[in-house]
Amino acid sequence: MAKLELQNLRKEYNPKTVPIKDISLDVEDGEFMTFIGPSGCGKSTLLRLIAGLETPTKGRVVISGQTVNGVPPGDRNIAMVFQSYALYPHMTVEENISASLRIRKTSSDEIRKRIDDVIIKLDLDRALLERKPGQLSGGQRQRVAVARALVREPEVFLLDEPLSNLDALLREQVRAELKQLFKSQNKPVVYVTHDQTEAMTLSTRIALLYEGVLQQLDTPYQIYTYP
Ligand code: ADP
Ligand code: ADP
Repeated sequence: MAKLELQNLRKEYNPKTVPIKDISLDVEDGEFMTFIGPSGCGKSTLLRLIAGLETPTKGRVVISGQTVNGVPPGDRNIAMVFQSYALYPHMTVEENISASLRIRKTSSDEIRKRIDDVIIKLDLDRALLERKPGQLSGGQRQRVAVARALVREPEVFLLDEPLSNLDALLREQVRAELKQLFKSQNKPVVYVTHDQTEAMTLSTRIALLYEGVLQQLDTPYQIYTYP
């Protein structure tokens, strides 16, 4: 069982820039929680706080009962997918997918097993494993970024606008894939977007964020039927 808790989370860069203002909520196993709001409302900052890429000014991030404030990103049982994919350009796809496992000294047998597993789940062509990210299409890069997150078998998934760089048709296809994929993971997922369609189709719950304040937190049905 995994659970992500945000407890009175606050981030101040300076007295005038407070992108996250005392946010509290829980995300349970199997929940797909989408933070939606306009550019600058604090979505990326929130993900970076959860990932440990930023330190909160106040409050706590708790994962499965453990406070992780102060725990560096690499030691958190979290995997993040970035809008820009953040693949290592000099590494092959296989090396990109397995990088975090090799750092953790996972056995090569186990790495092979997890890669086999993930290329089936994501319907990735095995021939792509030898390529460099620069030789992939946008959709393939995004699948590799998702594969890299899945092989870690983390307790919590974070996705930062993972569809924004895809063209409209591909976006719809990858969105449907992500929905299936994360349903079967049965882990807490935190997703960030400014796209209402993505929020409505993917989420079990939606958090409306405006100027760092949680405005509303409810199911897609409740949010878009009774706004
Ligand atoms: P979003 O992801 O919703 O577009 P961000 O979390 O990127 O919003 O930014 C929220 C606010 O925090 C913005 O006003 C932004 O300018 C500010 N901000 C983000 N990162 C920093 C930083 N490192 N230093 C100062 N201000 C920042
Ligand atoms: P965004 O597009 O959301 O602003 P970036 O792709 O710019 O995010 O990445 C933000 C930072 O996180 C970069 O400094 C990058 O080196 C680092 N980073 C990249 N991949 C990972 C990862 N898997 N886990 C933790 N940090 C990462």
